[in-house]
Amino acid sequence: MHGRSIAKTAATREYSSTSTGLDPSSGSTSTSIGTGTGTSGAHHTSGQLLEWEAKWHARWAAQPNALPSNTGSGSGSALSQSSTTTTKTSHGSGLPLQESSRPAHESSGLTAASSSADSNKRYILAMFPYPSGHLHMGHVRVYTLSDCLARFHAMNGRQVLHPMGWDAFGLPAENAAIERGVAPGEWTIKNIEYMRKQLQRLGMAFDWSKEVTTCAPDYYRWTQWIFLRLLKAGLAYRKNAVVNWDPVDQTVLANEQVDENGRSWRSGAVVEQKLLNQWFFKISAFSNELLEGLDQLAWPESVKQMQRNWIGKSTGASFTFRFASSEQAPLQVFTTRPDTLFGVTFVALAADHPVTQQRLTELGVTLAANTQGLDLKLNVLHPITGKPIPVYYGSYVLSDYGTGAVMGVPAHDERDATFASAMSLPTIPVIIAETGTLENSGEFTGLPAKEAAAAIVAKAETTGSGSIRTEFRLRDWLVSRQRYWGAPIPVIHCPKCEVVPVPEHDLPVVLPTDAKFSGRGGSPLKTVASWMHVNCPSCGGPATRDADTMDTFVDSSWYFARFTDPHNTTAPFDTEAANKAMPTDIYVGGVEHAILHLLYARFLTRFFVKEGLLKKEASEPFQRLLTQGMVQGKTFKSAVSGKYLLPTELDSEQKLELQTGVAPKVVYEKMSKSKYNGVDPQTMIDRYGADVLRIFTLFKAPPEMALEWDENAIAGSRRWVNRVIELVETVRQVPREGTPSSVSDADSEVLDQLVFTTNATIKSITNSFEHTFAFNTAVSDLMKLSNTIKDVPARLHTQPQYTHAVTTVVQLMAPIAPVVASELFERLSHTQQSAASPETARDVFSAGWPVANDMQLKPKTMSLVVQIRGKVRLTLKLPARLVEDHSALKSAVLADAQVQKLLANAKLTGSESFVAPRGNLINFVQ
Ligand SMILES: [Zn+2]
Repeated sequence: MHGRSIAKTAATREYSSTSTGLDPSSGSTSTSIGTGTGTSGAHHTSGQLLEWEAKWHARWAAQPNALPSNTGSGSGSALSQSSTTTTKTSHGSGLPLQESSRPAHESSGLTAASSSADSNKRYILAMFPYPSGHLHMGHVRVYTLSDCLARFHAMNGRQVLHPMGWDAFGLPAENAAIERGVAPGEWTIKNIEYMRKQLQRLGMAFDWSKEVTTCAPDYYRWTQWIFLRLLKAGLAYRKNAVVNWDPVDQTVLANEQVDENGRSWRSGAVVEQKLLNQWFFKISAFSNELLEGLDQLAWPESVKQMQRNWIGKSTGASFTFRFASSEQAPLQVFTTRPDTLFGVTFVALAADHPVTQQRLTELGVTLAANTQGLDLKLNVLHPITGKPIPVYYGSYVLSDYGTGAVMGVPAHDERDATFASAMSLPTIPVIIAETGTLENSGEFTGLPAKEAAAAIVAKAETTGSGSIRTEFRLRDWLVSRQRYWGAPIPVIHCPKCEVVPVPEHDLPVVLPTDAKFSGRGGSPLKTVASWMHVNCPSCGGPATRDADTMDTFVDSSWYFARFTDPHNTTAPFDTEAANKAMPTDIYVGGVEHAILHLLYARFLTRFFVKEGLLKKEASEPFQRLLTQGMVQGKTFKSAVSGKYLLPTELDSEQKLELQTGVAPKVVYEKMSKSKYNGVDPQTMIDRYGADVLRIFTLFKAPPEMALEWDENAIAGSRRWVNRVIELVETVRQVPREGTPSSVSDADSEVLDQLVFTTNATIKSITNSFEHTFAFNTAVSDLMKLSNTIKDVPARLHTQPQYTHAVTTVVQLMAPIAPVVASELFERLSHTQQSAASPETARDVFSAGWPVANDMQLKPKTMSLVVQIRGKVRLTLKLPARLVEDHSALKSAVLADAQVQKLLANAKLTGSESFVAPRGNLINFVQ
């Protein structure tokens, strides 16, 4: 995904050509692609892991259908449309098509059970990446999280959909074309090929048979189709509007793409205002449902609150200000402060308000970029007093909020006060700060503000000059972009028929390959005359195409639905297929998408529901959201100059700055080229193996927190892998006999403790994967269990409890470290085949997820009530394991000296007794 946080305001361009895609991951690094073997610091066992990886990849490549639940081979999979459809082969553009012929599930190893009940489905989705060229650490983190979840649910027998694709339209490709003369499509395909290999190398179990690429004509054909559906529904429209113009990227931006400092989300440039004719999506028609839908979502509260604030529901009043000397339609003004109505000293209008436009023409004035305000030389009448009020143009008035008109109350609004002072307008205070009651407000003077607000609206209502009203801050989504690398807007402009939709059978409107890029503004598509000039589909006369392309956020607003039926050539997706898989159960991605992407996607999904393309239950596309924190790099700053230091500017221990001899300041910051703190995942994979990298990213920090990358700390993860390998060897090296030898009481205690810890670990890790996503504690719990196992004396290595514990560690680590777990499980199962234990399934992923034995989660000791002929005589403490074995329990009770004495006194032999079903009471009778 395209992911620069709008909260970050560094106005640098350094990211523009590398990783500005709709990236799910906050951390980005710009280090070059490392393919070296990274011998420095290599551990002696890394070679073994790399060998296992190669074996694993060879195995899964040879078994393309290793993911039976998701291959869609017509076997009735719950989540896949059996797609025998043929893919369009060419649109003459040379762009990538959906590569349905690619073997599914290379290097996956994901296996699910055969149940197809809908309640058993899990749609696990990670935000798809922008193909910037290579993976960065943020990608490693986000996809490791989703992969763990997908593998966990598959091991639990659920139908898992875990797809991957590419958010492939966007500016970096176009900038590459401008800077290096590479065709955007070519550049993009090359990057996709490389990054796909990297993801596979990381052992990600993506269902590659469902891969989608948004810049492929067979994808954007449907993006265009959705545009036309919105147009037909009256939810796509064109208007002249003052829009945000990015002078660096030479394109307009949506409001969501401008940060609070007025800078572009992408280029960081200060955004300018321009009046242009642009396409909008009417997201505002969904304001209320987008707001209310948030309540039901299992999202981080902070993300929900950001959306609530962005949608910005406010309740207030609308007042009618009639013109003093004309018949013109009155001005409607929205305010959240009706209590201040008597303090109005002016009304200010937005630049594109019709009255502003009309008066500017009449007065023969044009607005300069820096015009703060202008007297329009008109008067309106106060809704209650009838007093004349002057009307101004005010640059601070937003055209889309309320009605584009503001009642100016300088005494009680800061912006109004600034404006009034600049325009020398009077100020009338109407609320006494100390008492909160009204002054200078006619009959309302003396009332508390809240009461006054209601009374003033009620009064205005009686004369038809006011009413209660709700307004939203959310404005319509501006989707036109004056750039090349996006989905062309599928309309034709005809001098006679005006805007004519491209007929559905003519979709896709394919991008021409011979556009000229200058980066100097204007839509590059305008330079391709043969593409621009077409016949009007309606009258047949000469007409032109729309030269703009769609905001790339349109592409990413529906890809999750396409994943459910990616090769459909007759619709964006089959409703039945989408209804089975949607909504996604867990969505993993960066918090920087809290507003932009997540809001747009919710909007389009609701539109699909309205159009009958999706079931109502799927109105919210993302049920649960896991937002992962940034990956930060270790940064060295000179304590003397404050400059960022290169590793070569430090001594070998990184303790001193060579030039000054002073210790540098060490901080963790977002990885960036200019801070010399980037870490290339490829180098890390080559050095430690993919599994160790995966373990480390999960272990180092909870998913939602920042991860401070510290290569020295990887050693701990590596050591743990080594420990598990050693434990498996202890199982393999002991001779296997038919029945284990009997053990002493002390050993029996040790084994009990082992069983207890094993079961407790199963329970806590299951809970982490299923509910809390506390993967860091899951890894540490596994490390603890490994330590407990390591402490078990060698004489007990033949015991089934020991084998079970070791096998459990391997199974529980499978979602986290699939290659290692796979190899070790295979070794264990070879060892145990003769023993015919239930753990002999050869593949760790088809063996299923271990289930905790609740009985073995009970306390180690139990209290047993001893009765003699129905009377309570004694309470004994006994090992809890006896609860299950009543004859052993009885033997233990009879061995007790006090019991023997009681029985002798009662003249009982002890042969007749009754044990309560729960094993907590024994009654001696007869
Ligand atoms: Zn026409």
